[in-house]
Amino acid sequence: MQDLLGLSPLDVARAVREIAAEPFRAAQIFKWIHERRAADFSEMTNLPKAMREALAKDFVIGLPKIALRTPAPDGTEKFLFELSDGARIEAVYIVESKKTPSWTDPETPGASRVTICLSSQAGCAVDCAFCVTGRMGAGRNLTAGEIVGQYLAIARAKSFGPHEANVVFMGMGEPLLNVANVVRALDLLEEEVSPKRTTVSTAGIVPGIETLAGRPRRPNLAVSLSAADDETRTKLMPINRTYPIAPLISALKRWPLERGRRITFEYVLIAGVNDRTADAVKLAALLRPLPSKVNLIPLNESKEWLPGLLRPADAVVNAFAKVVADGGVPVTVRWSKGLQADAACGQLKGREEPRRPAPQAR
Ligand code: SAH
Ligand code: SF4
Repeated sequence: MQDLLGLSPLDVARAVREIAAEPFRAAQIFKWIHERRAADFSEMTNLPKAMREALAKDFVIGLPKIALRTPAPDGTEKFLFELSDGARIEAVYIVESKKTPSWTDPETPGASRVTICLSSQAGCAVDCAFCVTGRMGAGRNLTAGEIVGQYLAIARAKSFGPHEANVVFMGMGEPLLNVANVVRALDLLEEEVSPKRTTVSTAGIVPGIETLAGRPRRPNLAVSLSAADDETRTKLMPINRTYPIAPLISALKRWPLERGRRITFEYVLIAGVNDRTADAVKLAALLRPLPSKVNLIPLNESKEWLPGLLRPADAVVNAFAKVVADGGVPVTVRWSKGLQADAACGQLKGREEPRRPAPQAR
């Protein structure tokens, strides 16, 4: 059984050529999978019945299995998926209130307010001190089909069509350590989610940023910074030893931004660690020379996985935001909503996994 999910239109045509020889048939099949979110060949009603049956004998559309859906009162919904090898990953369907500015696409008025947050790896080796996915340890890269499959399975479950959602790579894993498959997935999604409405969030993997920068159609870039000095950043994000702040900022200066666009910098605020006024002053000074905007994320706490790390009081978050804004850098705060589904990576999976002893806070 060959999986058609994850194949380009050309590869679908190659795979099915003995059963569906005419090129328009392959195009129809691709369209059924991607635009009409078919999960089964029997749904492909404009193909002859015998062709559908022949396809079903040799091929599958490997949408990931939904293991658990966790809806929140505000419409946000977390999906836990089980992949063919048993690996569990999560993705989130986020609905944003029309009243609040969209943190995923604040510059496009009237844009759809549905955002799908996708995972790129089943775990993460980057090991940031404040991240549940990181605490759970490394996992394998997802294939392009497994990445696109999360989007299609959610589109099917929530019944939204092409061009109705933004996509962000802010789920589990570091997308730029799986850059080949992420790029393949972006290409497969291009027909229904334009790169302008796609955001790749990275812990600052410089070679991956350079790979994306060299592509003709680029997603928006979000960089998880979380500290404006190397000492604090290395404590929170050990990857800073490999890609410290100065070379990271130099790589970002070379990022080909379209007019009016900015690079987003995510900054997870942790009480007593990186939330002082001096940190905010440093952050604004570092980012002022770049077309940047800051997205502050008050820590999503986890007593079990992140012992000793606390979210600052709201007043501290607001004061920090004001200092950054006064320093000349646009800033938004991502207040958690619903199940805090948009703030947390790996929390749902954390509940499903066998417990591992919590590490000491660093
Ligand atoms: N690996 C990529 C994308 C996944 S993480 C990256 O690090 O950018 C997506 C975002 O969630 C990152 O900005 C990360 O800093 C943030 N994050 C991780 N753990 C968090 C927590 N406990 N509370 C709030 N934000 C968190
Ligand atoms: Fe990995 Fe991102 Fe979590 Fe860091 S914050 S451990 S890079 S998923």
